[in-house]
Order: sequence, then structure tokens, then C-alpha cells
Amino acid sequence: MTPRCSRRAMLGAATALGWVGRSARSAGSDAKPAVLGGEPVRRSAFPRWPIIGDEDVRALVDVLKSGCWYRGNGDRVARFEQQWADRLGSRHCVATANGTSALITALNALEIGPGDEVIVPPYTFVATINAVILQHALPVFVDVDPETFQIDASKIEEAITDRTRAIIPVHIGGAPADLDAVLEIARRRGLAVVEDACQAPLAEWRGKKVGTLGDLGCFSFQASKNLTSGEGGAVSTQDDRLYAECLSFQNNGRSGPGMPGIFARNGANLRLTEFQGALLATQLARLEPQSKTREENAAYLSEQLRRIPGITPARMYEGCTRNAYHLYMFRYDPDAFAGLPRSGFLKAMAAEGIPASGGYAPLYREPFLERALDSRAYRSIYSSARLASYRERLEFPGNERLCSEAVWLTQNMLLGSRADMDEIAGAIRKIQEHAGAIATA
Ligand SMILES: *Cc1c(COP(=O)(O)O)cnc(C)c1O
Repeated sequence: MTPRCSRRAMLGAATALGWVGRSARSAGSDAKPAVLGGEPVRRSAFPRWPIIGDEDVRALVDVLKSGCWYRGNGDRVARFEQQWADRLGSRHCVATANGTSALITALNALEIGPGDEVIVPPYTFVATINAVILQHALPVFVDVDPETFQIDASKIEEAITDRTRAIIPVHIGGAPADLDAVLEIARRRGLAVVEDACQAPLAEWRGKKVGTLGDLGCFSFQASKNLTSGEGGAVSTQDDRLYAECLSFQNNGRSGPGMPGIFARNGANLRLTEFQGALLATQLARLEPQSKTREENAAYLSEQLRRIPGITPARMYEGCTRNAYHLYMFRYDPDAFAGLPRSGFLKAMAAEGIPASGGYAPLYREPFLERALDSRAYRSIYSSARLASYRERLEFPGNERLCSEAVWLTQNMLLGSRADMDEIAGAIRKIQEHAGAIATA
């Protein structure tokens, strides 16, 4: 136990910095850190995910008993597509097996193929990049802005060549990328925009739902996502022709959603099941209130975290009118924590009962990219000079910074109470207070 005087001194310093809220006292920043054998700030679990209600059980049992398990003989997927389109304010929506297949469907609808270049941010889930590689197109990385964690739109233009066909802005963490800038560049340069909104259901840019502003928008309903059926996805579009292409592509290239039908184009079976369609409808009923809770808790948490030296929450663009908060993301500066490296901070947070992660590692250093570039297909499509210059440009300081400084909290942690947020902030303050001891332990 630290002597009392040090607590008073600490609280004095905290008051000077404007830290003192209920939590500064209740979390007991003077107490020994849990990682050094003290009491954790928190013992209870954060809200579990997914949330399962009786209506989810009924919906699934109804589908089960109906015997209509796929969209060819049921109507749950089609009903969900309509609901999701309505919720987004989108003209069309096509459900897919998952978010990866939503991206693949979108790129196929645009006929992105071998030789094409597609602009992507490096700070994303691997699926964004894999969708491009599966088309045998080149994913051209444009660095991210470490302040916002989003693609740095001011660097897009210099990455455009005469082979560029599309831009995939990823609304990472649930906050919109700078769509004003991305859409303006795309319009002027004649490029398609596929929004990767997999982490951003109900996020808004200037009052409009993301995923409805580009040519196509892609969503994921995978287990971790804010709206989930375990696996699942959707593509939204305002374009009748692109809609028909997507609908056809996810149904083995049939001319429509039904069976039989003529095989009008190439395609795959990427259909969502009726079980998932039914579950998404019941889960969707909770998405709006959940999103509201996440936003309110995140705003409250940001207010507290901004006062802690060395903790910098991700900045949102001025055009962001709603953040879906799939992740709560901030940057951690070890210099404000007596040199305690991020890994040590994360360990100390876990010990305090606050699970946090360091997020993505640099994707362009994972083996999959070089393996694709060195594949038979890529070597036959792209000249060795083109591949060599591509390899030379795989340097992204903004992304490197985020990969080493980011800390993520998951969306379910924002579904509880303000007291939960107090405990998160309290744990960080406690670790900061004892950072020297933790760093040298
Ligand atoms: C989850 C996710 C995907 C892929 O979705 P799946 O449903 O897991 O296939 C793509 N992009 C981003 C940014 C994601 O977070």
C-alpha cells in the first residue's frame, strides 16, 4: 500500500490536470496495480456478445420447422435485404455469406480483374486486401492518417495510375473515412468507390449512412460485428445494374435470385441462409438502441481519456455525424507512462480486468502478399518491373505508427454503463501512476 501522502499528492496533481471524477477516487489510483499483485479495478465481465433473446430463438426455430432453409424456398433473406436497405436508406441490398464475399461480389459487379489496380488502406482487416487479390488485381496501399486511423485521402491522388479502377475506403473501427475527399477524387478521376463498411453499420457521413455513398457498400455480419448472425454479409447500392450483377453473382451467376434461371454470368454460391436472414432481422431490432449506447459511452470515455497525458483517442472527421464504434481506438505513448511499452500496458490493463488489444500488425509484411505477387498468375499478368516497383513502395509510416501505438477496446465493452467507462479510464490512470514500477518489475 502506498503511503497516504502520496495519494493526496497524486489527487492534487490529478485535480490540476482536471482528472478528478468519481472514478479517480473509486478506482483508487493509489492502489497497487493488479499486474504487481494488487486488487484489479474490475472483477466483473463486460457485456457479453452476441446478445440472445427469446425472439432470436423463436425466429430460428420457425425457420427450422418450416423446412425452408435457403433463400431459394424461403423469404427471410429477401425480407432482411429489404429491411437493411430501408435502414440504410439504400435503393438496393444483396445479402451474402459474409463480408469477404460482399467485397468479392462488389468487385465482380465492377468487373475488377487482372491488371487492374485498386486503392486500399493498409490499416484494415486482411479481407479487404484478399478480395482484391482474388480478382488478380493489385491492391495499391495508400497510407493512413495516424490521427484518424483512416485512409489519408490527401495521398490517394499520387497513387492513381492509368490502371487504377477503384478505391476501397475502409471505415475502420466504425468511423467514416473522409468520404468528401474520396468521392471527389473518384468522380474527377473516373474511379469506382467500394466502401468497406464491414465495421460501420449505421455510421453516417453528413447525415447519410455509410455504405450508401460510394458505388457499392459492403457489410459484415460476422460474430464480432455490431450486427451479427455468426457469419453473413451484404452489399448495398443505388445502381440498378450493379444490383442485378451482385444478385446474380452471389447466386452462381443465375439471372435472378430464384431457381432455376439461366446462367447469365460467372458467379459463386455466396448465399446467406434463411437461418441467418431470420436471426439478422431479430438482431437488427436491437441495433439502433445499441448504437446509441455505444456512442454515448464512447463520448463519455473520450472526455475522460483526452485528459490523460499520452492517451489520444482517434479523431473523427468533421463530416462524421455518427460513429458506429465497432472498436474504440486510441493511441498510447509510452513516454507518458515511464517508458512502459504498449505490450506491458496491455498486460497491465488485462490484469485490471480491462481487456484491450494492440490491433492490426502491418499487413504488407504478412506472407500472403508476397506469395500472391510471386504466384504463377501474378507473374504472368504483371511484368517483373511492375512487381518490383510495387514491392519497393511497401512503406507506410502512418500505418507503422498505428500498428505500434494503437490500443483497441471492442464494441461490446461500450454496451454497459458509465461506471464501466469510469473503470476503463480509472485503470489507465492507475497504470500511469505506477508505470515506473510496472516498467521495471
Ligand atoms: C470483418 C471485416 C471484413 C470481412 O468480413 P467477414 O464477414 O469476416 O468476411 C472485411 N473488412 C473489414 C474492415 C472487416 O472488419
